[in-house]
Amino acid sequence: MQWRDLKARLLEAGSARISGEPADDFIAKSTAGPGAGGLGSVFFSMGSHRVKLAVNPASAIEIAHRGGGVAELYFEDQQIPGRLIRPGLHCPDQAFITVTESCIFSCRYCSVPRLHGKRKTVGEIMDLVESVRHRVSAISLTSGVAGSIENEEAYVCEVIRHLLFFDLPIGVSIYPAEKTPEKLFALGVAEVKFNIEAATPVLFAEMCPGLDYDRLWRVLDRSVELFGKGRVFSNVIIGLGENDAEMEACINQLTSHGVIPVLRPLNPVAGCTGASRPSAERLKHIYAMHSRALAAAGLDPTIALTMCTNCAGCDLVPGRDE
Ligand code: SF4
Repeated sequence: MQWRDLKARLLEAGSARISGEPADDFIAKSTAGPGAGGLGSVFFSMGSHRVKLAVNPASAIEIAHRGGGVAELYFEDQQIPGRLIRPGLHCPDQAFITVTESCIFSCRYCSVPRLHGKRKTVGEIMDLVESVRHRVSAISLTSGVAGSIENEEAYVCEVIRHLLFFDLPIGVSIYPAEKTPEKLFALGVAEVKFNIEAATPVLFAEMCPGLDYDRLWRVLDRSVELFGKGRVFSNVIIGLGENDAEMEACINQLTSHGVIPVLRPLNPVAGCTGASRPSAERLKHIYAMHSRALAAAGLDPTIALTMCTNCAGCDLVPGRDE
């Protein structure tokens, strides 16, 4: 089985059970993104390829850890040799930090509002980055919204001012105010990700009550002007009820604006519990659309320095999952 087929099948399943030697050093606990608040996740790699799977003792997929990261993945009748990758913070090679682990909004697919977590202090964030400094090449920040969008933006900017000390590329994905791109650019942030989340405005309104779809597009356009083509990203979730034509139109709209789509299979948690994860066939079909659209727009995901396009754990990423 080729890597892309295998990864699509693994993303369809979404989880694995871990057996063999203790694997605690290889388990990432997340407070954002797919798997937030769960038993944690592992990154299984084959050469330069990787996939992130939630740890789930009931999963049909088994990863047997033989020690030191050496592992075999058992999937249907296949035994696939590889490695578990030790995460930095949340994902390999990066200190990816959720600044505020709670949110006043209630996007249906997201667990963060239910976590009722706290806002990390600047000191805590500096200590976290310091703890993994020797094995990360980037810092990425995301955040819920504790009080207001403007207040969160101001706090994240304060955090960034301190993080400049580490002299690493910084990526930021927060819910934006109108001038967020200007403020992040002025601070020296390398890349930004502002998520349109759903493939159509109607689905966005259903999934993300109270958030402003048109503002996201204005902010994405301004970001491309400032940060440049290929340094601006936007998540779109696959499986919120869109059809393939709607997804293709959304992908093309983003790429024609100079934005790299991050096409994320739905993790059915929070208000989406009970929905299905998208099938491997659909993921591969959308991957083909994604590849075509990126090539036509001259966008290269392989140069991403930060965040999900650099990590490539949760999605099929053109150029990375060939
Ligand atoms: S792809 Fe993004 S959400 Fe998934 S593990 Fe990597 S950084 Fe986290």
